[in-house]
Amino acid sequence: MHVSKVEARAPDLEVAGAVRRFGTVEALAGIDLAVGAGELLTILGPSGSGKTTLLKVIAGFERPDRGRVLLKGRDITWSSPAQRGIGMVFQNYALFPHMTVAQNVAFPLEMRRVPRAEARRRVDEALRLVDLAGYGERLPKQLSGGQQQRVALARAVVFDPGLLLLDEPFGALDRQLREQMQLEVKRLQRRLGLTALFVTHDQEEALVLSDRIAVMNRGRIEQLGTPQEIYARPSTRFVAQFIGESNLFRARVRDNVTAVLDDGRPMPLPRGTGFAPGSEIAIVIRPERPRRIEAGEDADFVMEGVVSEIVYVGESLKYRLRDDDGLELLVRWPFRETGSRLGVGDRVAIGWSAEDAHVVSW
Ligand code: ADP
Ligand code: MG
Repeated sequence: MHVSKVEARAPDLEVAGAVRRFGTVEALAGIDLAVGAGELLTILGPSGSGKTTLLKVIAGFERPDRGRVLLKGRDITWSSPAQRGIGMVFQNYALFPHMTVAQNVAFPLEMRRVPRAEARRRVDEALRLVDLAGYGERLPKQLSGGQQQRVALARAVVFDPGLLLLDEPFGALDRQLREQMQLEVKRLQRRLGLTALFVTHDQEEALVLSDRIAVMNRGRIEQLGTPQEIYARPSTRFVAQFIGESNLFRARVRDNVTAVLDDGRPMPLPRGTGFAPGSEIAIVIRPERPRRIEAGEDADFVMEGVVSEIVYVGESLKYRLRDDDGLELLVRWPFRETGSRLGVGDRVAIGWSAEDAHVVSW
């Protein structure tokens, strides 16, 4: 059997069965995660889902109640943070205010007793990497928020860490700066070949940055996959709602090809959903899938109703449609395809084919 080099390579970071409770709160409810060498993996989840706790367990600031953490095959579950050689950028892990930029960046090297000349060379290189060459003698307060986070980034990578952890590092920055920093982190991570975990609650940020995304909810990873996989085939109702927009129709499976909505009307199912008759499901329709049905045309499912709302979102338009029975549908079409002919109050038929739907359990 042929095994490619990449597949045969052990993951850089492995978390196995990690559980962490705070009183009755299960911050981590059994986390299994493997991150490949050189991969940038995003942990995406709402506030309180356990993201920071997971990073702290990996960094050594929290001990798991159960489970293990392995870095390059070595069990580090009980190692001190300093022994792990992990670089970190946290939103509230501030720079030392009384130290210059260069002293801040040099700090991890001093801890490791790197000789002074070598340390100076590495600090210069790290500052160059984050576009702050020449800023070494300034104090943090003389820098903008974005520059300060770039210093934090330089400090996190200056000692060639085996792993880079970033916990919502740009949460305090405005949108434009945040987008610029996202691209910089990605560039830096690629350039240095770093294995990195990036925590965010912002799906846009996750989509921009990641090779793969782990979606976290209530201490669990609900789905791990590429952005495309997660968008097209969410594995749970939570993921379908958290990533992108979707229409969710609650229904009960009737047979292989049909489910019945709460109001009794049948809705077609895609092939091979694997749900048994009687199962309670959510039929997920992403808003770009439905299309306008003109007189004489047909589709597997057709909904006729009135446009109740129109929202302009950049290059596309979103329409909310409501039929006579109160069923609602959100659609999003590229601006150039919709023209401007639909207005609020217009009656319209919109439909989709069975294969446009995705099914998850309710
Ligand atoms: P996130 O980073 O996704 O917002 P956290 O990992 O910070 O989530 O928190 C997960 C859950 O664990 C939350 O319910 C939080 O209140 C709880 N928690 C985290 N740290 C502590 C702690 N030191 N003491 C008590 N509860 C905690
Ligand atoms: Mg957090």
